[in-house]
Amino acid sequence: MQFKAAMFDFDGTITERGAYSPSKKMAFALCDLAKKIPIAFCTGRQLESFEKRGLTTLLQIIKPKDRESFLKNLFLFAENGAIGYAFDLKKNKFKPFHKVGWPNHFINKEKLKKILSDAIKEYGEVYENAHRIVIVMRTNLHDYEDRNIDDVYKLSDKIFAITVKILKKINKNYEKFVHAGNSGIGVLVCPANGDKDAAINCFAKFLREKRKIEFGKNAREILVMGDSPQTGGNDYYFLSGKYGTPFTVGYLNKKLKLLKPVLDENGKRLLNENGTFFMIKSLLED
Ligand SMILES: [Mg+2]
Repeated sequence: MQFKAAMFDFDGTITERGAYSPSKKMAFALCDLAKKIPIAFCTGRQLESFEKRGLTTLLQIIKPKDRESFLKNLFLFAENGAIGYAFDLKKNKFKPFHKVGWPNHFINKEKLKKILSDAIKEYGEVYENAHRIVIVMRTNLHDYEDRNIDDVYKLSDKIFAITVKILKKINKNYEKFVHAGNSGIGVLVCPANGDKDAAINCFAKFLREKRKIEFGKNAREILVMGDSPQTGGNDYYFLSGKYGTPFTVGYLNKKLKLLKPVLDENGKRLLNENGTFFMIKSLLED
């Protein structure tokens, strides 16, 4: 398939598992890819976190002469897909072009934050004043540089289980209103219509309208890559196969029929940054 655009989860997909920032070889690969097709990151992070630990690193690595072409073809779907941004070269900053609201008819957001905050305090905390739409919880190991990443994943699983229990208690059909996603380094609750699958559709719509690129109904011409497609993972909807052509560089969820693993020339599975890097290189050779 000739891909016309690509969308990547960030943590554990662009970065190595447990790393906050992308590597040099990944930055160069992304820069080369953006010369060919539009690319988007679709992450649980909010804009500022992506800028601080993602974009800044990328721009420090890529050559100054490539900066403009890179930013022109770079898009960001932050907060798990709830807000879409394009880069405004004149103003030198990301500008939102898509935003989904919180479903207040399900539960007031501040009220839910308070309930979650009390319930998870043994394992983590609600991350305050950072995200605009989604609720994010991070583990109490978040600020420890020398933490063991497996311990972080375990805490994140605990927070996720508690979150789902609470949401079910509010409404057993809560998934009609909000989705809970476990990224391994934290848990988020986002509007159901603002999850990562909706972001793929929104990206296709934007590119059809603004760049005159043609996509089929399910936008299969968009390559979609993530690392957490397990049930409850924050890429579950992203890689569900509703839109785009999904590849996993993490867990292989067999329930998702269209989801494929990334394999090297010898049929060996490639995970996280290695898998994403391999796919980008293959696209660049096409
Ligand atoms: Mg991830």
